[in-house]
Order: sequence, then structure tokens, then C-alpha cells
Amino acid sequence: MRLPANSMSGKQKRNKLPDTETGAVRKQWNDHIRIALVYPNTYKVGMSNLGFQTVYDILNGFDNILCERAFLPDDIISRILSIESSRSLLDFDIIAFSVSFESDFGNIISILKKAGLPVSASERGTPYPLVIAGGVACFINPEPVFEFIDCFVIGEAEAVLPNFLDHYKSGAEKKDNLLEIVKQVSGVYVPAFYETSYNKDGTLRSFYPIADVPEKIKYVYLKDISSVSTCSKIVSQNTTFDRSFLIEVSRGCPHGCRFCSAGFVYRPPRFRTLSSLEKTLDKGVAIADRIGFIGAAISDLPEIIALCSMAQIKGAQISFSSLRADALTGELAAALKKSGIKTATIAPDGGSQRIRNVINKGITEDQILSATEIIVDAGIPNIKLYFMIGLPTETMEDVEEIVILCKKIKKRFLDSSRKKQRIGHITISINPFIPKPFTPFQWAGMDDIASLKKKILHIKNGLKKEANVRIDFASPKKSYLQALISRGDRKMAGFLSLVESNSGNWLKTLKSSTINTDFYVYRKKSFDELLPWDFIDHGINKSYLEKEYQKALLFQTSAPCPMNSCKKCGVCIG
Ligand code: SF4
Repeated sequence: MRLPANSMSGKQKRNKLPDTETGAVRKQWNDHIRIALVYPNTYKVGMSNLGFQTVYDILNGFDNILCERAFLPDDIISRILSIESSRSLLDFDIIAFSVSFESDFGNIISILKKAGLPVSASERGTPYPLVIAGGVACFINPEPVFEFIDCFVIGEAEAVLPNFLDHYKSGAEKKDNLLEIVKQVSGVYVPAFYETSYNKDGTLRSFYPIADVPEKIKYVYLKDISSVSTCSKIVSQNTTFDRSFLIEVSRGCPHGCRFCSAGFVYRPPRFRTLSSLEKTLDKGVAIADRIGFIGAAISDLPEIIALCSMAQIKGAQISFSSLRADALTGELAAALKKSGIKTATIAPDGGSQRIRNVINKGITEDQILSATEIIVDAGIPNIKLYFMIGLPTETMEDVEEIVILCKKIKKRFLDSSRKKQRIGHITISINPFIPKPFTPFQWAGMDDIASLKKKILHIKNGLKKEANVRIDFASPKKSYLQALISRGDRKMAGFLSLVESNSGNWLKTLKSSTINTDFYVYRKKSFDELLPWDFIDHGINKSYLEKEYQKALLFQTSAPCPMNSCKKCGVCIG
């Protein structure tokens, strides 16, 4: 069944949510293990997340498991009840949070509270549901929410969940069951089995087990992603990708941009085979007109053109989550145009070649300008450009280079647009750099808010006379908060509780908190420091990340991951 166009009001949506979706699973409540899968944000955000949908599909694929969804209340959903049967979260055996962004960590506390559960794991005894959490935000750094979660899944859901559920015993004493699970299942982290101590200067001194459990948690991943199809389970009108069927094409990225956590924690990069993608495509075109290809390195798929043609022959319109400027060809742009795409995105990330070398972006100005031309020549009228400010070693000259590059892009854009007799818009998105865990920049400090504001003003002034150019800025203050949470240790749990007590008012909490938040955000860490996330073993050697950071400071680049089990970063050895 194909879904009709979305034309309902907010109130109608609330009452008729089940009618606006196709693919939801409703099982009878009998002897199943009952799992509430919770996305700690609104329905619209959660249902746009392919990882969340994948876990829903995996869990409902087991005969003995019943999985229903729940979200943060909004104008569509007024209470925290499961979507499928309107049950309270307290009626489930397991509450499983799927967390992609650390900015949603605070919502976990608020959901637990609203659902009637004690927020602290230590106060939730055996009769309460087991609260677990997984998703990329958890396997990058779960420590800021250690206090609220009984156990974390450190790895890809397909690789950990089946084994986890084999050892889960409904109704058993929680602590005993968790101890057994940890001993039998790789990729499970129970915070209550570990303690930490701190140095006088506030840095982490030690992280150690207090039970018979491993010292480090080994991240577990799926070696052959073609063995499973990762795609939308439910197609809904109320998502960012309205009525699109999403298909994961690849996982991880070979390019090694030094600011990107996903590029390191999802190593080795993996691509699906064309034949496995075709099977998933057939499922998609049966229920949706539009197919969204998802992945950090879609344009690196060797058969990308064949995949696009295949989708279009089957009558689908297509879109991509990202495309690299150096991989954009006329054929790819034409395929996008054919699907009705009106805006194509390029991410130069840095304005100067020097900064692009620092971040190991691996694209040149010529490639960026040529991608602009290819997009407009294909008939796609609008372009969106992503840049970062506040990158390590950045000077005001580098910021000025963003202005200069945008003007060059604009000129190339106009030259090509005139030939087409249609002039579209350029949107420039400027985002403060956040030094993330498990990247070569994990030791760097974030640029301060005053400096970021100065850089934003410089770009605004530099481009204010440019017609058809719109500039969007991510707020430096919000980026500060994001850095605080993503780089936090266990002390951050108290801060998040305070945010919840202050009804989500982060700025009030920043003023009233006794925590020195600048310590987490601005401080450059020393290479021999124990980092809050060091207990997670992603297989990447810390010495490799350090070497990459040192190369960045010398403006040196590194070759992409060769994807052939070399020994460079350590992932393919372990
Ligand atoms: S060890 Fe080599 S092939 Fe494997 S992920 Fe690292 S860089 Fe890539």
C-alpha cells in the first residue's frame, strides 16, 4: 500500500497516527518478553532515524519478543505510552533507549521520570523494567548518563542484541542476570560494576571493575553488512523524510576526516553488495515512491550509478544522505535531478586548503568548484554548503578564506545558472567545531564562544552584499553544551539531573551548577591522560589517533583507509 500525501492538521495526526504509518507490528500480549523501544526525542525525529527503525525490526523478528515504540511527548503524542498498544512503560520487561545524539541524553531522564520510574538505576530494583541504552551516542561516550541506565549495548545492534536476549531472563534478579549477561555477551557495559576516581585537578585517575567483569568493553560490529538488510520498517508521513523508504547502503567511511567520530568508531568501512541492495529496493518500491539512500560514504559505493539506475527503472525517486564533492559526477547529478531534487549539498568544511589538510578532508578547491558546476549543469537549482569554524590551528585568515571560497562558488554557480536561464539560491551553513571522543581531535579544546561569534560576524559581513546567498549559523552556546555533554565524565550525570530539575533550562543550569563546565569544553587534554571513554575498546590504537593529531598540527594529510585489512589504525588486527 502506498501512502497518500501528508495533508493532516496536528490534531488529526494525534488521533490518527496509526493510519499515517505503514509497517508497524502489533503482537498479542501473551508470553512474550515485552520491550519498549524508546527514542529520546519526538516521534518525527525518532521515526526519521534508521538505526531506531532497525532495532524495532530486529526485536520484532524474534517470535518470543514483542517490541513497541515510545517517544518524547509533542503535539502528536501527549503522553509517554507505547504507540502500538498505548501501554505505560512500566508494563514492559525492558525499556530500551536508542540514542544517536548526546544532545538527547537529558531527555532520557525526563522520559524515565514522566513514565513513573526512579531515574537512578540504583533505585530501580528487580520489579522495575530493565533499562538499557544503545546507539552511536552510547558507544562513543555513555558516561554522562551512567547513573540512569542499567546496562549499555556497546556495539551494532545486529551483532549484540540476539546474544543479549538469549541470556536475558525475564523476572530474574536484575543484578545476577546482568552479571551473567556481561560474562557471556561481548559489548555489554553495566556501569554499576565499575567505579572511577579522580585526580586533584579534576582529571580521571582510574576506571576499574568492582565485580568479576572485563576491564574494558569490546565494541562489537557486524563484519558482513550484506547479510542483513537495514531499511525502514515503518514508512510514516510524519518524518523528516516524508514517505521515504530509507536504505542503508554503507556503514563507516574510509576518508578519515579528523573531526568525525563516525569515521573512526564505525571502522572498518563496509559496503553492501548490489544484489543485496536490489532485494531491499524491491521491498521499498512496493510501499513508497521515494527511496532515501543512507550512509556516510554513499558515493564510494563502486556500483552507485548502477544502484541509482536500478531504483529509477523501478519507478522510485531517490535521494542521498550525503555526497562528496570529489565523487560527484554528471551521471550522479543527473540521477538526482531526475528524482526531483532541488538542492544538492557540498561539505567543503574548511575554507582554505591548509585547514582542509588539517582536518584531512581530502578535497581541493578545484573539486569543490567543479562539483558546483556539475550540480547546476544537471539542472539542480540550489546548493547548500557546510563549513566549520573554530577548527584546531584556525586563524582569521582561514575564516576569510571561507568568505573568498563562497564568492568563488557563487561566481561559478552564476556562470552555470545563466546558461540554464535559472538562478537558484546558495545556503551556507556555518557550524562550530566540537572536538569529539574517538577522533584525532579528542585532545583538542573547543574554540571559545567570543571567538566563534567574532568569526561568524566576519563571515556575515564578508557575504552580506552577495545576492541569492543565505547564511545559517549553529549557535555557539548550543555547540558549547553539545561539547560539554559529549566530552563529559560521570560527574556530568549530576549536571543533567539539574537540567531536568530546571525544566530543561540549560542556561539557568550553567549559571547555577558548581561544575566547572569550561574544564570539559575548552581544556586541551594531555596525551597521557585517562579519558572518560577509554574503557571502550573500538579496536583503534590510541597511538594512531595521536599520530593523526600530530600530523594535523603540521598540516599533513593521511591516505584514506584502504579497506583491505591493513595494520594502520588497529581495527582489522583485533
Ligand atoms: S586497519 Fe587499515 S583497513 Fe582496517 S580500518 Fe584501519 S585503516 Fe582501514
